Amino acid sequence: MEKWPIGVFTSIGAGLGASLEAVKELGVPTVQLHAPPKELRTPEKAAEIKQQFAEAGITVTVVFCGFPGESYADIPTVRKTVGLVPPELRAERLQTTKEISDFAKALGVDAIAMHIGFIPEDPADPGYRPIVEVAQEVCDYSQANGQRFHLETGQETAEGLLRFIHDVGRDNLAVNFDPANMILYGSGNPIEALKKVGQYVKSVHCKDAKWAARPGEEWGEEVPLGEGDVGIETFLRTLKDLGYEGPLTIEREITGEQQKRDIAAAVKLLERLRAEIWGTCC
Ligand code: MG
Repeated sequence: MEKWPIGVFTSIGAGLGASLEAVKELGVPTVQLHAPPKELRTPEKAAEIKQQFAEAGITVTVVFCGFPGESYADIPTVRKTVGLVPPELRAERLQTTKEISDFAKALGVDAIAMHIGFIPEDPADPGYRPIVEVAQEVCDYSQANGQRFHLETGQETAEGLLRFIHDVGRDNLAVNFDPANMILYGSGNPIEALKKVGQYVKSVHCKDAKWAARPGEEWGEEVPLGEGDVGIETFLRTLKDLGYEGPLTIEREITGEQQKRDIAAAVKLLERLRAEIWGTCC
């Protein structure tokens, strides 16, 4: 595959990703797929979905886990509802994660990913160790399916993420780096964070955002790629310096016609920067 194949975060059924039809129109070679709801994860449906992407000439590079009951309404709600952190939902969501790993295997995909939720920054917090243990279980299960497990960035600092990866201690644990999330959640300068966790980055989201007035207390604002505070060219050059040649997956967390237009513009921006940075032309 070419260096930095462009991709789009895609949903089938519910979800904030672009539709398969929209992705086909864009002509991109890869997608990350938001895991569809349970009724679409049967072996028969998985075979159908695999065929649809194959016929479109699109490679699914990562299957993203999401769970009923998650809400990104504001930062305190994310703390309460997202990922494997809420203790009362952990067992059920672990089971769902294993089913999504099996679904990804049926699609022939070698990575699953997740917003695991707000990991306590203090490893002495009584909530910390159980999250390490559940992450180990996800790693071991996905390893048996021949997969990596990618942690989406944003909710913790780079240092917190590195400590967590070390404490989980599994070779198939990796990072899906989303530079905009570092800004949206107020968890640190995205380029500095990327340099720190770079050796673990196996997939990325190309997404942009503007800092909030009070970072970490309120959301920053997600904006079209190239219009925010990430510095997309610097982001890409840093990825190159780190030796990352994997997909550049565009994520735009709005819906409708504006989402389509913004993603199409992002594809053009990434194609231009890729040609400039690698010194090849189109
Ligand atoms: Mg993301």
